[in-house]
Amino acid sequence: MSTPDINESLSILTNDEACARQLNVRNVRVLNTVGDRGRGVFAARDFLPGEIVIIGLIDRMEKIRTTNSFQLDWNVHALFQKPAVAVNHSCDPNLAIVPNRFGAYDFVAIENICSKVEVTWDYATSEFECIGVSVCLCSSQNCRGSAGGFSKLPRDNPMLVSGFYAPYLNRNPSSFQKR
Ligand SMILES: [Zn+2]
Repeated sequence: MSTPDINESLSILTNDEACARQLNVRNVRVLNTVGDRGRGVFAARDFLPGEIVIIGLIDRMEKIRTTNSFQLDWNVHALFQKPAVAVNHSCDPNLAIVPNRFGAYDFVAIENICSKVEVTWDYATSEFECIGVSVCLCSSQNCRGSAGGFSKLPRDNPMLVSGFYAPYLNRNPSSFQKR
C-alpha cells in the first residue's frame, strides 16, 4: 500500500478506495506494541462510539484461511490491506466489524477511544474458527485464553448479543444455534 498524498482533486466519486486510504491514514497509526504482541494499530485522534475508525479494503482473496485472513463468508477468506490487517485481537475489543461497500469490513468504535490508545477487535466475530491467536495476550478481565472463533463464543458475549459479528454467521443454522 502506498501512502496517499493529500490531493485536492481526489473525489469519492472517482476514487473511492483512495479516499478510504486517506481516511485510514488520518485515523490510525501502525506501531510496535509494548510487550510480546508485535505491531498494533493505534488511534491517531479521539473517536466517539459509532464512528468508523478503519475502512477495510481487500488486498487479495485467499483460497484458505490463514493466520492473517478475514472470513467474509463460508469458505471465503481475504487478506485486508494495512492498517486493517495489523489490528490485534482482544477478547474485550473497542472496535466492531460491519460489512462495507468494498466487500470488506469497516471497523467501528463501540466506545469512546482516545488518541494513542490501541484499537482492537474480536477475531471471533468474523472467524468461525480462528487460527491466528492460539494463545491470547489481550490481558482483559474476560480473556478467553485464545480467540477461539465464533463457534466457541459464549452465548452471552456482548458482541454476539449486540449483533456485531459477520452476517454470514447467521446463515448456518446447523452449526450455530441462535438463542
Ligand atoms: Zn484475550
